[in-house]
Amino acid sequence: MFFFQCTKLKRLMKYGRTLICENEGCEATFTTALGYLTHQKICGVKEEDREKFTCEICDKVYMSSVGLKYHMQAKHTQVNIIIH
Ligand SMILES: [Zn+2]
Ligand SMILES: [Zn+2]
Repeated sequence: MFFFQCTKLKRLMKYGRTLICENEGCEATFTTALGYLTHQKICGVKEEDREKFTCEICDKVYMSSVGLKYHMQAKHTQVNIIIH
């Protein structure tokens, strides 16, 4: 499946550097494969059905792994250092 996606992406990239979402009614365009793949995960998916990323430390919920990663770096980087 992942291989299929890579092949498909390469084919899409041949038509210039812009990737266009193929979903009906969606005209989102992307200049990076990562942006395209990230969009594919949420395009046409209801908000409550989207993949969620939950912080294991404070249960905060993020819609993207990047958001959670940023949160971990900003809020919990010193968790293992602070010992009372
Ligand atoms: Zn789309
Ligand atoms: Zn947290």
